[in-house]
Amino acid sequence: MNVGERDIGARLAFDRGSPGRRAVSVPRWEGEAAPLPPAGLRRERLRLPELSQGEVVRYYTALSRLNYGIDSGTYPLGSCTMKYNPKVDDLMAALPGLADAHPLEAEERVQGILRVGHELQEALCSLTGFAASSLAPAAGAQGELAGVLMVKRALDDRGELGRRRRVLVPDSAHGTNPATAAMAGFTVTQIPTASDGSMDGEALERELDESVAAAMVTMPNTLGLWERGIDEVAARVHAVGAYLYADGANLNAILGRARFGDLGFDVAHVNLHKSFSTPHGGGGPGAGPVLCGAELAPYLPAPVVVSDEGGLRLGRPERSIGRLQQFHGSYGVLVRAYAYLRSMGLDGLRAVSEHAVLNANYLRALLVDAYDLPYDRGRVLHEVVLAGTRQRREHGVRTYDIAKRLIDHGFHPPTVYFPLIVEEALMIEPTETEPREAVEAFAGAMLAIAAEAASDPDLGRSAPCGAPIGRLSAAPAARRPDLRWLPPGE
Ligand SMILES: *Cc1c(COP(=O)(O)O)cnc(C)c1O
Repeated sequence: MNVGERDIGARLAFDRGSPGRRAVSVPRWEGEAAPLPPAGLRRERLRLPELSQGEVVRYYTALSRLNYGIDSGTYPLGSCTMKYNPKVDDLMAALPGLADAHPLEAEERVQGILRVGHELQEALCSLTGFAASSLAPAAGAQGELAGVLMVKRALDDRGELGRRRRVLVPDSAHGTNPATAAMAGFTVTQIPTASDGSMDGEALERELDESVAAAMVTMPNTLGLWERGIDEVAARVHAVGAYLYADGANLNAILGRARFGDLGFDVAHVNLHKSFSTPHGGGGPGAGPVLCGAELAPYLPAPVVVSDEGGLRLGRPERSIGRLQQFHGSYGVLVRAYAYLRSMGLDGLRAVSEHAVLNANYLRALLVDAYDLPYDRGRVLHEVVLAGTRQRREHGVRTYDIAKRLIDHGFHPPTVYFPLIVEEALMIEPTETEPREAVEAFAGAMLAIAAEAASDPDLGRSAPCGAPIGRLSAAPAARRPDLRWLPPGE
């Protein structure tokens, strides 16, 4: 580490440098002075960091090196699909004709941009087996909200909204599923997971009646497993007049091989930033297009790109739930997804699911003796959910400690403590873009940590040792973050 790197975070730019030091020197104005009107004058001294140019550059370079991203190493955050994003997709999104276009430009002047949207809508429909789509949602969670609001409006049009108040959600679901149903005004009924990792069919049968508006099912589910008997689930849900929603965040597991529409789903969202290559660390940006069959198509959020005699234009479906945000969604993410689809082709996309599943199964095989695997079918799809229960029971080393220790071994930790039904969960998704050596290196670190847990449990409990900041107190860091710099003494 270089000068100052170890105290990054402890000392800000304000605490560095020296009074009077400057990064650039502006030549003295030699013309006539034109004073500002007194109202425009500052009455207090402006407190800015005073650093030389070299100090500024070193400070920010040091900050940038503290960041761990997919461009620096394996990032096995389960469910998030942190895969390598081809740089050509970024180049396409940055093309001036796309990136600099004004959102209020007349439609006839942006036919090319609209064509990207139109072809993307069609490509996503053909990949998921649906009739219609809208690219408006700016995240997976917003796609879910759109889908559930579409269901709500359709039920209202059927005159059944009054009595259909419940949405069924498996207990393995991502938190956004029940949150979405609640935000849309429904009550959530949780469906337990059976010991094989699929929804408990009997519990589902018990809960299904005419008070149900929809069931939300993640496909494949967050245990990295195929939801068994999904066609039967679809038939039962439809038999009571409810809709079946697919959370498609795990699409990379089945890309080019299985389609939500063919499986009996009525509506779904996909996460373009996960499955179709957009860097999405740190919470954004994203896009969560919503897709549906012909019945729900009139309810899609606006805008949708439509094609008619005059060319392409932005339209609003007849019974649309309305707009989710200003303008046209996260267009840069849409362009990246479009470029990704075009450069991969259907064969390439099928290879994505093949490699995603192969990598997850290889990792599973490397780790299955060292860690517990609570829902074990002998194989997985795109991710594997292990558990640190053995390490906790035998050595007092918890999943949280294992995650922190991975930082010392040079890896970003996987998703932990999710899904909620797995105690001490370690949810690992290597993704399709990690080469064999990277999967082996990550597994090597996990095996070393399992061995350390036995030989030196304090190591895990005090990790990370090599990071600039050790263990934060997570709750106050989130609820009472200390974000404001005050001069000494204030
Ligand atoms: C990521 C994810 C979501 C939410 O998507 P965002 O784009 O983060 O809003 C929903 N469900 C599952 C299974 C996910 O992995």
